[in-house]
Amino acid sequence: MSDLTRLGAAEMARLLRDGELSSVELTQAHLDRIEAVDGAVHAFLQTLPEAALAQAQAADAARAAGEDLPALAGVPIAVKDVLATKGLRTTCGSRILENWIPAYDATVVRKLRQAHLPVLGKTNMDEFAMGSSTEHSAFGPTRNPWDLERIPGGSGGGSAAAVGAFEAPLALGSDTGGSIRQPAAVTGTVGVKPTYGAVSRYGLVAMASSLDQVGPVARNVLDTALLHELIGGHDPKDQTSLNEPVARAVDAARLGLGGDVKGLRVGIVRELGGRGYQRGVLDRFDEALGELRSLGASVREISCPSFRYALPAYYLIMPSEASSNLARFDAMRYGLRVDPQTGPVTAETVMGATRAAGFGAEVKRRIILGTYALSAGYYDAYYGSAQKVRTLIQQDFENAWEQVDVLVSPTSPTTAFKLGEKLDDPLAMYLADVATIPVNLAGIPGMSVPCGLAEDRLPVGFQILAPARADAFLYQVGGALEAALEAKWGAPLLARAPGLPQGPSRTEGGVK
Ligand code: GLN
Repeated sequence: MSDLTRLGAAEMARLLRDGELSSVELTQAHLDRIEAVDGAVHAFLQTLPEAALAQAQAADAARAAGEDLPALAGVPIAVKDVLATKGLRTTCGSRILENWIPAYDATVVRKLRQAHLPVLGKTNMDEFAMGSSTEHSAFGPTRNPWDLERIPGGSGGGSAAAVGAFEAPLALGSDTGGSIRQPAAVTGTVGVKPTYGAVSRYGLVAMASSLDQVGPVARNVLDTALLHELIGGHDPKDQTSLNEPVARAVDAARLGLGGDVKGLRVGIVRELGGRGYQRGVLDRFDEALGELRSLGASVREISCPSFRYALPAYYLIMPSEASSNLARFDAMRYGLRVDPQTGPVTAETVMGATRAAGFGAEVKRRIILGTYALSAGYYDAYYGSAQKVRTLIQQDFENAWEQVDVLVSPTSPTTAFKLGEKLDDPLAMYLADVATIPVNLAGIPGMSVPCGLAEDRLPVGFQILAPARADAFLYQVGGALEAALEAKWGAPLLARAPGLPQGPSRTEGGVK
């Protein structure tokens, strides 16, 4: 069978179930694809060919033995390097963890292993998930498969690029302010940030614990739904884990794919659009709304006035939590240790030298910001005010849910920008997440689904938001939109991605 890597994960799973394909064949096809294109894309920090093939063999053996296997058994996956993998280096895109080998698996990784999904490798990311372009990785940037001179989004640019470049049908990401949805938007893939607490954070290297959430990336809505159901559910090892059943994502996706959104009430967020948003992004967004209307959804505008304070509030809360979380990198317990060049060697000087050498500029900026925001005398003015804004944003959402079932907006104000374009302007970089951040502050779920190409021939993402614990709505609306748009286009959006150059096998620019 040719070009196995072009299939969707659900289709791969069907062929595996029907015995028309083995997991070893499928995994090898992806390893070959990675070999061919990842020199150019650099989605992976580390590939795991032997381990992945061994897992594939085990999946095939379990199937041959007649075991009752989960839906995605045998389908390979890529994992963002922010998730702990037992016995395998987990760098978080940072020098300070360059050689860290965790002694345990993140709960979501354990679930992948138990369900027999071969892990192809660990994907690139902005250092400690801080960024919107993957350029803050200590190991070099990832490139957008649509245009190698452009960013793949961030912080999870590696996972989105791997899926967009057909190097993996599925990937795991993490989303603190948009790191699953914004990369999905700019690479033409689907990304979901589940309700806070719906997916375990155990083994997810903490950035801002009250905002972080693990979620799926794939090339279509059904595939993200299958992965969501696999990784979701209560975990006693995560104290913020919700103790309730996993969202019925797959049923909802199928409902939507069948065109069933009749009577659904859709709200356009007035504050997320207009000035500052690229023309082509707004045009594709409006056309997608038209599709939902023709399917029988009712569409109206909703105002969320506090959203204008979301970005400043996020950039106080997130750095505050990160400055506290990252205090654990003290050179004593694990990770890098650098001794001072001169003077006495004390705990303090070693810690200073290690953190100076081990953290990149963006991480240092946020630690300083967060430490300042939390310091005595400033705490109420900065951190305290930001928490109040957080409450106002939650109230905006609560008001909206009295009037509509879902809210929608463009996922990102622009399409993929050029590498280097925003690197010297942190504020410009932060603005890439202006539409994704309110979701994390409120703990609600959000999805980005492709809605076409802008005037620059680059993908645009359509963002769907739902009330907490109502993740199923995302899959229903996302599925309906995907089916309607693909019917119009005659093919999935990614079928139109320009062919990637057959780059050399990856030999440079990443951790080996
Ligand atoms: N880009 C945002 C930031 O830099 C979001 C990051 C994330 O979601 N991990 O903080």
